[in-house]
Amino acid sequence: MAVPHVFIFPLPLQGTVNCMLKLAELLCLHQEIHITFINTEYIHQRLMNYTDVLVRFEKYPNFKFVTVPDGLPEDNPRNGDQIGKIIEGVEKVSSPLFREMVMMTTTNYCTPTCLIVDGIFSFAVDIAKEAKIPLLYFDTISPCSLWTYLAVPKLIEDGEIPFKGNDLDALVNGVAGMEGVMRRRDLPSFCRTPDLDIPIIKLVIKQGKHIVQAQGLIFNTFEDLEGPILSQFRALCPNIYAIGPLHTQMKANLSSQYLPNTPTSNSIWKEDMSCIDWLNKQPNKSVLFVSIGSLATMSKAQFLEFWYGLVNSKTRFLWVQRPGSIIGLEDDNNNVPMELVKSTKERGCIISWAPQEKVLAHPSIGGFLTHSGWNSTLESIVEGVPMICWPYFVDQQVNSRYVGEVWKLGIDMKDVCDRATIERMVIQVMDVEKIEFLEKAKHMSDLAIASVGEGGSSYQDLDRLIEDIRLMRI
Ligand code: UDP
Repeated sequence: MAVPHVFIFPLPLQGTVNCMLKLAELLCLHQEIHITFINTEYIHQRLMNYTDVLVRFEKYPNFKFVTVPDGLPEDNPRNGDQIGKIIEGVEKVSSPLFREMVMMTTTNYCTPTCLIVDGIFSFAVDIAKEAKIPLLYFDTISPCSLWTYLAVPKLIEDGEIPFKGNDLDALVNGVAGMEGVMRRRDLPSFCRTPDLDIPIIKLVIKQGKHIVQAQGLIFNTFEDLEGPILSQFRALCPNIYAIGPLHTQMKANLSSQYLPNTPTSNSIWKEDMSCIDWLNKQPNKSVLFVSIGSLATMSKAQFLEFWYGLVNSKTRFLWVQRPGSIIGLEDDNNNVPMELVKSTKERGCIISWAPQEKVLAHPSIGGFLTHSGWNSTLESIVEGVPMICWPYFVDQQVNSRYVGEVWKLGIDMKDVCDRATIERMVIQVMDVEKIEFLEKAKHMSDLAIASVGEGGSSYQDLDRLIEDIRLMRI
């Protein structure tokens, strides 16, 4: 009988690779389970350059990395505006190689007994059927946003999208369980399209059809956060594993108790650790952390609005300015008004990439101005840090609505980017309503940490996932 052997294949982006590596490491701790982790060459190279991931995984004899090309030229940027190309490359170039790998190994000791792949990889359904092994989709975005993706066919049928008229504040009632919560502006960004014949809409429609054919869905969330949406999913696919927050689950498993500083980073950029020294010198809960993640970009005009808003709020801030994330700045020789540079020296710190989990866990952090990527949102929730949300695209519009309106863990700044609003919201979160926001954030943080503790909902779901994988032998 073959040993349990999982092939894990993430979408080649920072957030998804990070999540899937964490799942892989959790499974590796159970030595009986073997893992083959498929990386694109681009991601693998960056992991080699900037992290200790490869060394970290060397200690697991039951783990191996395999690389495939992503179909993009080496110098092609892998920013947010390239996602369509990245997915197309994986479908055209990486997926046939993945299929070959699965089929080739089905006859020997390395036989895969289960596939865990990104929820957007519709091609995996046929590969799993051909290999006669179970498929589990791991959608690393939030269930609440995935749920809105799956509602797209109904929204089109009901005539809700494309939108009629320009009122983005109109309520959308066609997403089950989200009635009265979602406005047009809170739907995934691609719902704003006037033209339904675009690749991303086709992709999510296809995803809806495939996702229900999997033997199970894995989510990076926890019951106390997204229970009502998880119930909706169970009606569609009864086998749900809600095992998040994964980074907390990992820390709990690696150290048998939750320690905020256990390293779990799988960052594909070089982290600037000097910001920790700077944070050490700041008062408790006084610093706003500002970051728009690994894919989002902003125009130079928006960048300056942010900067003025931050400086005018007189709040201390630690700002990640990822190279290439400010469109037009480099063409302008990084030219910014001297007054901003001067004020920043007094109260701010700018870096190009942060050890984000460590930063959010630092006692001096009191708020997070975020693009509402799902990993960032969960990392903030776990550390009890209130958020100001400036969503960029796809799922982030939904996440920011839930943070502001449903979970009340911050403010949703959506679609606005002017210095006066930024200043006002920073003051609201970091000063005027600081205590209230911190209390709510602390409560959710306690629930998140409890969910991965012994007997917690995510702890139990991870246990069940491991047990189910053990039984998937052929
Ligand atoms: N991140 C980081 N340092 C930074 C900015 C981001 O380590 O300076 C990490 C962050 O901790 C998170 C991931 O990058 O795990 C970003 O994922 P998210 O889903 O929030 O957004 P995305 O980058 O996919 O848009």
